[in-house]
Amino acid sequence: MPIELETIIGLEVHAQMSTKTKMFCSCDNDAFGKAPNTTVCPICMGHPGTLPVPNEEAINKAIMASLAIKCEIGEQNHFDRKHYFYPDLPAGFQISQYDFPLAERGTVTYDQTDSSGKIIATKVCKITRLHMENDAGKLMHRGTTSLVDYNRAGTPLMEIVTEPDLRNAEEAVAFVQELRRILIAVNASEADMFKGMMRFDASISLREVGTEKLNPRSEIKNLNSYKSLERALKYEERRLRKLWDKDGGPPPNDITVGWVDDEEKTKMLRNKETADDYRYFPEPDIPPLRFSKEEVSAFAKELPTLPREQREEYLKLGIDEKQAMQLIDQPKLRVIFDSVYKKTNDAKRTSSIVLTQLLGFLNSEEKNIEQAPEANMILELLECIDSGTISANAGKEVLGKMVQTGKTPKEIIKDEGMQQISDDSAIEELVQKAIEANPKAIESFKSGKEAALGAIVGWVMKESKGQANPAKVNEILRNKL
Ligand SMILES: [Zn+2]
Repeated sequence: MPIELETIIGLEVHAQMSTKTKMFCSCDNDAFGKAPNTTVCPICMGHPGTLPVPNEEAINKAIMASLAIKCEIGEQNHFDRKHYFYPDLPAGFQISQYDFPLAERGTVTYDQTDSSGKIIATKVCKITRLHMENDAGKLMHRGTTSLVDYNRAGTPLMEIVTEPDLRNAEEAVAFVQELRRILIAVNASEADMFKGMMRFDASISLREVGTEKLNPRSEIKNLNSYKSLERALKYEERRLRKLWDKDGGPPPNDITVGWVDDEEKTKMLRNKETADDYRYFPEPDIPPLRFSKEEVSAFAKELPTLPREQREEYLKLGIDEKQAMQLIDQPKLRVIFDSVYKKTNDAKRTSSIVLTQLLGFLNSEEKNIEQAPEANMILELLECIDSGTISANAGKEVLGKMVQTGKTPKEIIKDEGMQQISDDSAIEELVQKAIEANPKAIESFKSGKEAALGAIVGWVMKESKGQANPAKVNEILRNKL
């Protein structure tokens, strides 16, 4: 009888914290796009005799992230030195947390959705721990030469380790998507995958259904997108299943593999290292961190609405599932939406301006949400519409031009001469002209045909190139007739 195998997956997620400065020094933490080796100092370069000072902002953010994934904060925890030699690690050790991490025993509830965004399954992945550490630099290989950029060295990271609770690649991706939303919601990390701010190591093994023991696993290192996470797990799963068929069981020991994106396969790197290899010991230059219950509950009070609750709130406003997820996954879009909604208190209007018009214009300009006008500019546009400076229709046109040119609404209205005509005497003049030019329509209105009025208003709108205030035109026209 063929045996039935199940796939066991656990993840380590590294997320760069969004702090002003690095983990243990005052260097700028935003090195993206800066010239190599320009945001460094003797501390993050690991010079002898320098003293690391923990970044309070980073610790606070890591605590918020820990609480958002329902972890318990260790009342006393400390930093450790993790030793290994690699040219991108200037000190010869990484400052991490080993036996007493910042936080342990959490859970993340996540949803799996279909293509329309409807939830098809809700699952829970247990979190083993969250600890803080600093990042290494970056190596670049050019032919036979290797270059190193230490700008990233010392950047504050959270490492979040899960229990082996995931059963396939799709679950792993749905889990990391939810984790990313949570980290962004508590402002702990921007988690921008394009900038490498979130990276995954995935462990995968097989076992017979009904057994509990974990078999030797493959650890896939350094995956930096959902796509590579999913593909690497699927590839390694197929490889392990083939191996099982051939050998009649799991591999003899843990291995570490790398994912080669171009070739779409994993490559053996080394036998997996154990904790002993790293010769961990408590970091002597940094005193232990202590958190009282009162301090922890003060942090808990600051927790914002988390993404799954936020989604419920958007759905209650009458927004569909797909749009709700769009808002949650795109922080800038959410800021714009929330500020427009706060001002209008009208979900339908907000949705039309932000999710239909704005996204439509961005799409046709082939721009992304980061290139969208800022929320305060959209609010300025609303003011121009609500005060009657321009009509709602002209507002749409102005929004299109804002996306196109990056100019402010007021600049566009002025440059294009789009101000709505609300001045009574100017409209009276137009109405008088309309009456003279449309004797037939006037006749039929006077004989009781209400619809004829629309034709006359239309004539005025055309004559004024859409700038006359239609409500005013209607009012003055009725008075005159
Ligand atoms: Zn530094």
